[in-house]
Amino acid sequence: MTPVIDVHAHVFRGRDIPLKGYLLSRTYPEWYIRLLAPILFTVIETAIRGESHGWFVDLVKQIAFTYTGKNYRNWADILSQGDMEEITRRMFSAFQKDRIELSVPLMVDFEYGFKHSRRLQPIVEQIDAVYRDVVLPFKGRVHPFAPFDPTRELAYRAGLPGPGEPDGGPREKYSSLDSAKEAVRNKGFIGIKVYNPLGYRPFGNTVVDTQRRSIFRRNGMTRYEVFTGAQYDEVLSELYRYCEREEVPITGHCTHDGIEAYPRASFDFASPRYWRAVLERYPRLHVNLAHFGWSRPEEYLDVPRQPFFDRPWQAFRRRVAGAPGRASDLPSGAEPTVHWVREVAGMLARYPNLYADVAHHPVMDDRNIPKYQEAFTAMCREFPGVIQQRLLFGIDWHVIARVEHYEEFMERYARVLAGGKIFTKNEMRDFMGWNALRFLGILPPSRKVKSRWSKNWKRLKTFYRKNRLRQPKWFREASAYKGE
Ligand SMILES: [Zn+2]
Repeated sequence: MTPVIDVHAHVFRGRDIPLKGYLLSRTYPEWYIRLLAPILFTVIETAIRGESHGWFVDLVKQIAFTYTGKNYRNWADILSQGDMEEITRRMFSAFQKDRIELSVPLMVDFEYGFKHSRRLQPIVEQIDAVYRDVVLPFKGRVHPFAPFDPTRELAYRAGLPGPGEPDGGPREKYSSLDSAKEAVRNKGFIGIKVYNPLGYRPFGNTVVDTQRRSIFRRNGMTRYEVFTGAQYDEVLSELYRYCEREEVPITGHCTHDGIEAYPRASFDFASPRYWRAVLERYPRLHVNLAHFGWSRPEEYLDVPRQPFFDRPWQAFRRRVAGAPGRASDLPSGAEPTVHWVREVAGMLARYPNLYADVAHHPVMDDRNIPKYQEAFTAMCREFPGVIQQRLLFGIDWHVIARVEHYEEFMERYARVLAGGKIFTKNEMRDFMGWNALRFLGILPPSRKVKSRWSKNWKRLKTFYRKNRLRQPKWFREASAYKGE
Protein backbone atom coordinates (compact mmCIF):
# COMPACT_ATOMS: atom_id res chain seq x y z
CA MET A 1 0.00 0.00 0.00
CA THR A 2 0.98 3.60 -0.49
CA PRO A 3 0.23 6.20 2.14
CA VAL A 4 -1.58 9.23 0.73
CA ILE A 5 0.16 12.42 1.83
CA ASP A 6 -0.96 16.01 1.36
CA VAL A 7 2.21 18.11 1.70
CA HIS A 8 0.48 21.48 1.41
CA ALA A 9 -2.39 22.45 3.74
CA HIS A 10 -3.22 25.33 6.10
CA VAL A 11 -5.14 25.35 9.38
CA PHE A 12 -4.67 28.97 10.48
CA ARG A 13 -7.58 31.01 11.78
CA GLY A 14 -8.64 34.49 10.72
CA ARG A 15 -7.31 35.78 14.04
CA ASP A 16 -3.82 34.45 13.27
CA ILE A 17 -3.26 36.77 10.30
CA PRO A 18 -3.09 40.58 9.94
CA LEU A 19 -6.30 40.57 7.88
CA LYS A 20 -7.16 44.27 7.97
CA GLY A 21 -3.56 45.24 7.20
CA TYR A 22 -3.68 42.89 4.24
CA LEU A 23 -6.97 44.29 2.90
CA LEU A 24 -5.70 47.84 3.34
CA SER A 25 -2.52 47.00 1.42
CA ARG A 26 -4.46 46.25 -1.78
CA THR A 27 -5.34 49.01 -4.28
CA TYR A 28 -8.96 49.70 -5.10
CA PRO A 29 -9.93 51.77 -8.14
CA GLU A 30 -13.51 52.10 -6.87
CA TRP A 31 -13.74 55.41 -4.98
CA TYR A 32 -16.48 54.14 -2.63
CA ILE A 33 -14.34 51.21 -1.51
CA ARG A 34 -11.41 53.55 -0.86
CA LEU A 35 -13.73 55.83 1.07
CA LEU A 36 -15.27 53.08 3.16
CA ALA A 37 -12.10 50.97 3.51
CA PRO A 38 -11.25 51.80 7.15
CA ILE A 39 -14.76 50.94 8.38
CA LEU A 40 -15.43 48.16 5.90
CA PHE A 41 -12.21 46.30 6.64
CA THR A 42 -12.50 46.76 10.39
CA VAL A 43 -15.93 45.14 10.26
CA ILE A 44 -14.75 42.35 7.96
CA GLU A 45 -11.78 41.68 10.21
CA THR A 46 -14.00 41.58 13.29
CA ALA A 47 -16.39 39.19 11.57
CA ILE A 48 -13.69 36.87 10.29
CA ARG A 49 -11.93 36.81 13.63
CA GLY A 50 -15.24 35.45 14.87
CA GLU A 51 -15.59 38.23 17.43
CA SER A 52 -18.88 39.80 16.46
CA HIS A 53 -22.08 38.75 14.77
CA GLY A 54 -24.59 41.63 15.02
CA TRP A 55 -26.85 42.69 12.13
CA PHE A 56 -24.42 45.32 10.87
CA VAL A 57 -21.57 42.81 10.62
CA ASP A 58 -23.90 40.40 8.82
CA LEU A 59 -24.91 43.13 6.38
CA VAL A 60 -21.30 44.00 5.55
CA LYS A 61 -20.56 40.30 5.07
CA GLN A 62 -23.54 39.99 2.71
CA ILE A 63 -22.27 42.91 0.63
CA ALA A 64 -18.72 41.56 0.58
CA PHE A 65 -19.85 38.09 -0.54
CA THR A 66 -22.01 39.59 -3.27
CA TYR A 67 -18.75 40.91 -4.69
CA THR A 68 -16.52 37.95 -4.08
CA GLY A 69 -18.86 35.02 -4.79
CA LYS A 70 -20.48 32.46 -2.55
CA ASN A 71 -17.46 30.25 -2.06
CA TYR A 72 -15.77 33.02 -0.16
CA ARG A 73 -18.53 32.62 2.37
CA ASN A 74 -17.40 29.05 2.87
CA TRP A 75 -13.79 30.12 3.32
CA ALA A 76 -14.73 33.00 5.64
CA ASP A 77 -16.75 30.58 7.70
CA ILE A 78 -13.72 28.32 8.14
CA LEU A 79 -11.48 31.29 8.96
CA SER A 80 -13.86 32.54 11.63
CA GLN A 81 -13.58 29.30 13.61
CA GLY A 82 -11.85 29.88 16.91
CA ASP A 83 -10.55 26.36 17.23
CA MET A 84 -7.83 24.91 15.02
CA GLU A 85 -8.81 21.40 16.00
CA GLU A 86 -12.23 22.04 14.44
CA ILE A 87 -10.62 23.48 11.29
CA THR A 88 -8.47 20.36 10.98
CA ARG A 89 -11.47 18.11 11.52
CA ARG A 90 -13.27 19.92 8.70
CA MET A 91 -10.31 19.31 6.45
CA PHE A 92 -10.34 15.57 7.02
CA SER A 93 -14.08 15.43 6.56
CA ALA A 94 -13.96 17.41 3.27
CA PHE A 95 -11.46 14.93 1.84
CA GLN A 96 -12.65 11.80 3.58
CA LYS A 97 -12.95 9.83 0.35
CA ASP A 98 -9.29 10.55 -0.47
CA ARG A 99 -8.05 8.69 2.61
CA ILE A 100 -5.30 11.18 3.32
CA GLU A 101 -3.14 9.60 6.01
CA LEU A 102 -0.71 12.43 6.63
CA SER A 103 -1.47 16.12 6.23
CA VAL A 104 1.21 18.81 6.40
CA PRO A 105 -0.12 22.27 7.31
CA LEU A 106 2.29 25.07 6.48
CA MET A 107 2.42 27.94 8.97
CA VAL A 108 3.28 31.42 7.71
CA ASP A 109 4.53 34.33 9.81
CA PHE A 110 2.83 37.37 8.20
CA GLU A 111 3.19 39.83 11.05
CA TYR A 112 6.13 41.89 9.78
CA GLY A 113 4.72 42.06 6.24
CA PHE A 114 1.61 44.19 6.81
CA LYS A 115 0.36 47.28 8.54
CA HIS A 116 -0.53 46.60 12.08
CA SER A 117 -4.11 46.91 13.12
CA ARG A 118 -4.78 44.34 15.81
CA ARG A 119 -2.21 42.61 17.89
CA LEU A 120 -1.90 38.98 16.85
CA GLN A 121 -1.26 36.07 19.10
CA PRO A 122 2.55 35.87 19.31
CA ILE A 123 3.91 33.46 16.72
CA VAL A 124 5.40 31.16 19.35
CA GLU A 125 1.99 30.86 20.98
CA GLN A 126 0.50 30.09 17.55
CA ILE A 127 3.06 27.31 17.15
CA ASP A 128 2.14 26.00 20.60
CA ALA A 129 -1.56 26.13 19.73
CA VAL A 130 -0.93 24.06 16.60
CA TYR A 131 1.07 21.59 18.68
CA ARG A 132 -1.58 21.33 21.38
CA ASP A 133 -4.77 21.51 19.29
CA VAL A 134 -3.70 19.83 16.07
CA VAL A 135 -0.52 17.74 16.32
CA LEU A 136 -1.30 15.91 19.57
CA PRO A 137 -5.05 15.25 19.10
CA PHE A 138 -4.62 13.97 15.53
CA LYS A 139 -2.05 11.40 16.68
CA GLY A 140 0.32 11.21 13.75
CA ARG A 141 -2.11 12.29 11.04
CA VAL A 142 -0.83 15.88 11.07
CA HIS A 143 2.77 17.09 11.16
CA PRO A 144 3.19 20.80 10.29
CA PHE A 145 5.93 23.04 8.95
CA ALA A 146 7.00 25.91 11.23
CA PRO A 147 7.26 29.46 9.84
CA PHE A 148 10.51 31.35 9.40
CA ASP A 149 10.65 35.11 8.92
CA PRO A 150 14.11 36.70 8.53
CA THR A 151 12.79 40.15 9.51
CA ARG A 152 11.56 38.88 12.88
CA GLU A 153 14.92 37.19 13.35
CA LEU A 154 16.82 40.40 12.56
CA ALA A 155 14.55 42.50 14.80
CA TYR A 156 15.11 40.03 17.62
CA ARG A 157 18.89 40.14 17.18
CA ALA A 158 18.95 43.94 16.96
CA GLY A 159 16.75 44.28 20.05
CA LEU A 160 14.12 46.27 18.13
CA PRO A 161 10.45 46.41 19.12
CA GLY A 162 7.96 44.14 17.33
CA PRO A 163 5.72 45.54 14.56
CA GLY A 164 2.78 46.52 16.78
CA GLU A 165 4.92 48.45 19.25
CA PRO A 166 5.92 52.12 19.34
CA ASP A 167 9.58 53.13 19.02
CA GLY A 168 11.28 52.35 22.31
CA GLY A 169 8.54 49.83 23.13
CA PRO A 170 9.18 46.26 24.29
CA ARG A 171 11.70 44.37 22.19
CA GLU A 172 10.80 41.49 19.89
CA LYS A 173 10.73 38.55 22.27
CA TYR A 174 11.15 35.68 19.87
CA SER A 175 13.90 34.48 17.61
CA SER A 176 12.19 33.12 14.52
CA LEU A 177 14.98 30.60 13.98
CA ASP A 178 15.01 29.33 17.57
CA SER A 179 11.24 28.89 17.69
CA ALA A 180 11.28 26.96 14.41
CA LYS A 181 14.11 24.75 15.65
CA GLU A 182 12.29 24.10 18.91
CA ALA A 183 9.10 23.13 17.02
CA VAL A 184 11.08 20.59 14.97
CA ARG A 185 12.95 19.25 17.99
CA ASN A 186 10.04 18.76 20.36
CA LYS A 187 6.63 19.56 18.88
CA GLY A 188 6.17 17.13 16.00
CA PHE A 189 6.93 19.72 13.28
CA ILE A 190 8.77 18.32 10.26
CA GLY A 191 9.84 21.29 8.14
CA ILE A 192 10.08 25.05 7.64
CA LYS A 193 7.93 27.30 5.48
CA VAL A 194 9.29 30.50 3.93
CA TYR A 195 7.17 33.07 2.14
CA ASN A 196 9.33 35.26 -0.11
CA PRO A 197 6.57 37.52 -1.54
CA LEU A 198 6.46 39.15 1.91
CA GLY A 199 9.65 40.94 0.92
CA TYR A 200 12.89 38.97 0.79
CA ARG A 201 14.57 36.76 -1.78
CA PRO A 202 15.70 33.23 -0.94
CA PHE A 203 19.23 34.58 -1.43
CA GLY A 204 20.93 37.60 -3.05
CA ASN A 205 19.13 40.31 -1.11
CA THR A 206 21.78 43.04 -1.41
CA VAL A 207 20.55 44.05 -4.86
CA VAL A 208 16.99 44.65 -3.64
CA ASP A 209 17.63 46.82 -0.57
CA THR A 210 15.68 49.76 -2.01
CA GLN A 211 12.70 47.66 -3.02
CA ARG A 212 12.54 45.89 0.33
CA ARG A 213 12.89 49.13 2.32
CA SER A 214 10.04 50.73 0.40
CA ILE A 215 7.75 47.96 1.71
CA PHE A 216 8.58 48.84 5.32
CA ARG A 217 8.19 52.54 4.61
CA ARG A 218 4.78 52.03 3.07
CA ASN A 219 3.67 49.93 6.03
CA GLY A 220 4.87 52.54 8.53
CA MET A 221 7.59 50.24 9.88
CA THR A 222 10.56 52.42 9.05
CA ARG A 223 12.62 51.06 11.93
CA TYR A 224 13.21 47.83 9.96
CA GLU A 225 14.77 49.75 7.06
CA VAL A 226 18.12 49.53 8.87
CA PHE A 227 18.57 45.88 7.92
CA THR A 228 20.76 45.27 4.90
CA GLY A 229 20.46 42.64 2.21
CA ALA A 230 23.68 41.09 3.50
CA GLN A 231 22.07 40.63 6.91
CA TYR A 232 19.05 38.96 5.31
CA ASP A 233 21.34 36.59 3.41
CA GLU A 234 23.20 35.86 6.64
CA VAL A 235 20.15 34.74 8.65
CA LEU A 236 18.76 32.85 5.67
CA SER A 237 22.10 31.04 5.30
CA GLU A 238 21.91 30.09 8.96
CA LEU A 239 18.51 28.60 8.31
CA TYR A 240 19.73 26.65 5.27
CA ARG A 241 22.80 25.38 7.12
CA TYR A 242 20.65 24.19 10.01
CA CYS A 243 18.12 22.54 7.67
CA GLU A 244 20.84 20.77 5.71
CA ARG A 245 22.61 19.54 8.83
CA GLU A 246 19.45 18.44 10.67
CA GLU A 247 17.71 17.21 7.50
CA VAL A 248 14.73 19.54 7.80
CA PRO A 249 12.91 20.19 4.48
CA ILE A 250 11.87 23.68 3.34
CA THR A 251 8.79 24.69 1.35
CA GLY A 252 8.88 28.10 -0.35
CA HIS A 253 5.87 29.84 -1.87
CA CYS A 254 6.32 29.89 -5.65
CA THR A 255 3.61 31.48 -7.83
CA HIS A 256 2.47 34.90 -8.93
CA ASP A 257 -0.67 34.41 -6.84
CA GLY A 258 -0.86 34.55 -3.09
CA ILE A 259 -0.16 37.04 -0.37
CA GLU A 260 2.16 39.83 -1.37
CA ALA A 261 3.23 42.80 0.74
CA TYR A 262 1.17 45.05 -1.56
CA PRO A 263 0.36 44.84 -5.28
CA ARG A 264 3.50 44.73 -7.39
CA ALA A 265 5.76 44.99 -4.35
CA SER A 266 7.57 41.70 -4.26
CA PHE A 267 5.92 38.76 -6.01
CA ASP A 268 9.03 38.24 -8.11
CA PHE A 269 11.05 37.67 -4.90
CA ALA A 270 9.57 34.15 -5.00
CA SER A 271 10.92 33.48 -8.50
CA PRO A 272 12.47 30.01 -8.79
CA ARG A 273 15.62 31.51 -10.29
CA TYR A 274 16.58 32.98 -6.90
CA TRP A 275 16.59 29.49 -5.42
CA ARG A 276 19.44 28.43 -7.72
CA ALA A 277 22.07 30.11 -5.55
CA VAL A 278 20.67 28.31 -2.48
CA LEU A 279 20.65 24.90 -4.16
CA GLU A 280 24.20 25.41 -5.46
CA ARG A 281 25.47 26.29 -1.98
CA TYR A 282 23.47 23.71 -0.06
CA PRO A 283 23.23 20.75 -2.43
CA ARG A 284 21.84 18.36 0.21
CA LEU A 285 19.00 20.70 1.15
CA HIS A 286 15.48 19.44 0.35
CA VAL A 287 13.34 22.23 -1.12
CA ASN A 288 9.76 22.14 -2.38
CA LEU A 289 8.74 25.00 -4.66
CA ALA A 290 5.06 25.20 -3.76
CA HIS A 291 2.56 25.34 -6.66
CA PHE A 292 5.38 24.48 -9.12
CA GLY A 293 5.53 28.21 -9.99
CA TRP A 294 2.50 27.42 -12.15
CA SER A 295 -0.60 29.60 -12.36
CA ARG A 296 -2.29 28.92 -15.72
CA PRO A 297 -2.01 25.52 -17.39
CA GLU A 298 -1.00 27.13 -20.70
CA GLU A 299 2.16 28.59 -19.20
CA TYR A 300 4.34 25.55 -19.75
CA LEU A 301 3.92 25.66 -23.51
CA ASP A 302 3.49 29.42 -23.90
CA VAL A 303 5.94 32.24 -24.14
CA PRO A 304 5.29 34.88 -21.46
CA ARG A 305 2.98 37.70 -22.42
CA GLN A 306 1.26 40.55 -20.68
CA PRO A 307 -1.54 39.15 -18.55
CA PHE A 308 -4.89 40.30 -19.87
CA PHE A 309 -7.12 42.44 -17.75
CA ASP A 310 -10.26 41.02 -16.20
CA ARG A 311 -13.67 42.45 -15.81
CA PRO A 312 -13.98 44.82 -12.83
CA TRP A 313 -15.57 42.35 -10.41
CA GLN A 314 -12.96 39.71 -11.25
CA ALA A 315 -10.25 42.28 -10.74
CA PHE A 316 -11.74 43.11 -7.35
CA ARG A 317 -11.79 39.47 -6.32
CA ARG A 318 -8.25 39.03 -7.51
CA ARG A 319 -7.02 41.96 -5.49
CA VAL A 320 -8.73 40.85 -2.33
CA ALA A 321 -7.46 37.32 -2.25
CA GLY A 322 -5.60 36.51 -5.45
CA ALA A 323 -7.62 34.52 -7.97
CA PRO A 324 -6.79 30.86 -8.17
CA GLY A 325 -5.26 29.85 -11.42
CA ARG A 326 -4.24 33.10 -12.96
CA ALA A 327 -1.05 35.06 -13.00
CA SER A 328 -2.08 38.24 -11.24
CA ASP A 329 -0.13 41.45 -11.23
CA LEU A 330 2.97 41.80 -13.28
CA PRO A 331 6.08 41.06 -11.32
CA SER A 332 8.01 44.09 -10.27
CA GLY A 333 11.38 44.53 -11.89
CA ALA A 334 12.36 42.77 -15.08
CA GLU A 335 9.86 40.89 -17.20
CA PRO A 336 10.52 37.18 -17.15
CA THR A 337 11.66 35.71 -20.43
CA VAL A 338 10.47 32.27 -19.42
CA HIS A 339 7.48 31.22 -17.33
CA TRP A 340 8.32 30.06 -13.82
CA VAL A 341 6.91 26.57 -14.38
CA ARG A 342 9.38 25.95 -17.21
CA GLU A 343 12.22 27.24 -15.09
CA VAL A 344 11.18 24.94 -12.21
CA ALA A 345 11.01 21.91 -14.54
CA GLY A 346 14.55 22.61 -15.77
CA MET A 347 15.77 23.03 -12.20
CA LEU A 348 14.22 19.70 -11.15
CA ALA A 349 16.38 18.05 -13.79
CA ARG A 350 19.48 19.80 -12.48
CA TYR A 351 19.01 19.60 -8.69
CA PRO A 352 18.24 16.12 -7.34
CA ASN A 353 16.87 17.39 -4.00
CA LEU A 354 14.40 19.85 -5.45
CA TYR A 355 10.66 19.06 -5.50
CA ALA A 356 7.48 20.83 -6.65
CA ASP A 357 3.90 20.46 -5.43
CA VAL A 358 0.66 20.78 -7.39
CA ALA A 359 -1.34 22.61 -4.71
CA HIS A 360 -4.17 24.85 -5.90
CA HIS A 361 -3.75 24.12 -9.63
CA PRO A 362 -7.08 25.00 -11.26
CA VAL A 363 -8.06 21.43 -12.22
CA MET A 364 -11.60 21.96 -10.91
CA ASP A 365 -12.28 23.71 -14.21
CA ASP A 366 -12.98 20.92 -16.76
CA ARG A 367 -11.46 22.92 -19.59
CA ASN A 368 -8.09 22.90 -17.86
CA ILE A 369 -7.73 19.12 -17.67
CA PRO A 370 -6.70 18.57 -21.32
CA LYS A 371 -4.42 21.60 -21.04
CA TYR A 372 -2.58 20.13 -18.05
CA GLN A 373 -2.38 16.78 -19.83
CA GLU A 374 -0.76 18.41 -22.81
CA ALA A 375 1.68 20.31 -20.60
CA PHE A 376 2.68 17.28 -18.49
CA THR A 377 3.10 15.13 -21.59
CA ALA A 378 5.50 17.67 -23.07
CA MET A 379 7.31 18.11 -19.74
CA CYS A 380 7.81 14.37 -19.21
CA ARG A 381 9.13 14.07 -22.76
CA GLU A 382 11.60 16.91 -22.22
CA PHE A 383 12.76 15.72 -18.79
CA PRO A 384 12.40 11.94 -18.87
CA GLY A 385 12.07 10.22 -15.50
CA VAL A 386 12.42 13.46 -13.52
CA ILE A 387 8.89 14.77 -12.95
CA GLN A 388 7.58 11.36 -11.83
CA GLN A 389 10.09 11.30 -8.97
CA ARG A 390 9.80 14.89 -7.83
CA LEU A 391 6.13 15.85 -8.10
CA LEU A 392 4.35 16.14 -4.74
CA PHE A 393 0.65 15.94 -4.02
CA GLY A 394 -0.88 18.89 -2.14
CA ILE A 395 -4.32 20.51 -2.12
CA ASP A 396 -3.90 23.90 -0.37
CA TRP A 397 -6.85 23.47 1.96
CA HIS A 398 -8.38 25.81 3.31
CA VAL A 399 -7.28 28.50 0.88
CA ILE A 400 -8.80 26.38 -1.89
CA ALA A 401 -12.18 26.33 -0.13
CA ARG A 402 -13.16 29.41 -2.16
CA VAL A 403 -13.08 27.37 -5.40
CA GLU A 404 -16.14 25.43 -6.47
CA HIS A 405 -15.80 21.61 -6.30
CA TYR A 406 -12.53 21.84 -4.36
CA GLU A 407 -13.38 18.54 -2.66
CA GLU A 408 -12.69 16.82 -6.01
CA PHE A 409 -9.13 18.10 -6.27
CA MET A 410 -7.43 14.72 -5.91
CA GLU A 411 -9.75 12.88 -8.25
CA ARG A 412 -9.25 15.60 -10.84
CA TYR A 413 -5.48 15.53 -10.58
CA ALA A 414 -5.63 11.75 -11.00
CA ARG A 415 -7.68 12.37 -14.13
CA VAL A 416 -4.88 14.58 -15.48
CA LEU A 417 -1.99 12.22 -14.78
CA ALA A 418 -3.38 8.67 -14.70
CA GLY A 419 -6.40 9.31 -16.94
CA GLY A 420 -4.11 11.00 -19.43
CA LYS A 421 -1.78 7.94 -19.27
CA ILE A 422 1.07 10.26 -18.38
CA PHE A 423 1.99 8.49 -15.13
CA THR A 424 1.90 4.71 -14.66
CA LYS A 425 0.23 3.13 -11.64
CA ASN A 426 3.54 3.02 -9.78
CA GLU A 427 4.35 6.57 -10.68
CA MET A 428 0.95 7.63 -9.34
CA ARG A 429 1.85 5.97 -6.03
CA ASP A 430 5.12 7.88 -5.93
CA PHE A 431 3.25 11.11 -6.61
CA MET A 432 0.63 10.47 -3.92
CA GLY A 433 3.00 9.42 -1.15
CA TRP A 434 6.49 8.02 -1.67
CA ASN A 435 7.95 11.19 -3.19
CA ALA A 436 6.60 13.10 -0.18
CA LEU A 437 8.27 10.70 2.26
CA ARG A 438 11.57 11.14 0.44
CA PHE A 439 11.21 14.93 0.44
CA LEU A 440 10.17 14.99 4.10
CA GLY A 441 12.99 12.67 5.13
CA ILE A 442 10.65 10.19 6.81
CA LEU A 443 12.24 6.97 5.58
CA PRO A 444 14.56 4.67 7.54
CA PRO A 445 18.31 4.89 6.83
CA SER A 446 19.39 2.84 3.85
CA ARG A 447 22.72 1.21 3.11
CA LYS A 448 22.01 1.39 -0.58
CA VAL A 449 20.98 5.05 -0.68
CA LYS A 450 23.53 6.86 1.47
CA SER A 451 22.21 10.31 0.59
CA ARG A 452 18.71 9.57 1.91
CA TRP A 453 17.37 11.83 4.66
CA SER A 454 16.20 9.95 7.77
CA LYS A 455 16.38 12.36 10.65
CA ASN A 456 12.67 13.21 10.57
CA TRP A 457 11.95 9.49 10.68
CA LYS A 458 14.08 9.22 13.81
CA ARG A 459 12.60 12.35 15.37
CA LEU A 460 9.04 11.14 14.80
CA LYS A 461 9.84 7.72 16.25
CA THR A 462 11.01 9.45 19.41
CA PHE A 463 8.06 11.85 19.32
CA TYR A 464 5.51 9.01 19.21
CA ARG A 465 7.26 7.19 22.02
CA LYS A 466 7.59 10.25 24.27
CA ASN A 467 3.96 11.24 23.76
CA ARG A 468 2.71 7.67 24.09
CA LEU A 469 1.21 7.69 20.62
CA ARG A 470 0.89 4.52 18.61
CA GLN A 471 2.87 4.81 15.36
CA PRO A 472 0.32 5.54 12.62
CA LYS A 473 -0.10 3.06 9.79
CA TRP A 474 1.57 5.31 7.21
CA PHE A 475 4.63 5.59 9.48
CA ARG A 476 4.90 1.82 9.86
CA GLU A 477 4.62 1.46 6.08
CA ALA A 478 7.32 4.09 5.61
CA SER A 479 9.52 2.24 8.09
CA ALA A 480 9.26 -0.92 5.98
CA TYR A 481 10.14 0.91 2.75
CA LYS A 482 12.56 -1.05 0.59
CA GLY A 483 12.73 1.14 -2.52
CA GLU A 484 15.42 3.55 -3.62
ZN1 LIG B 1 -0.80 27.45 0.46
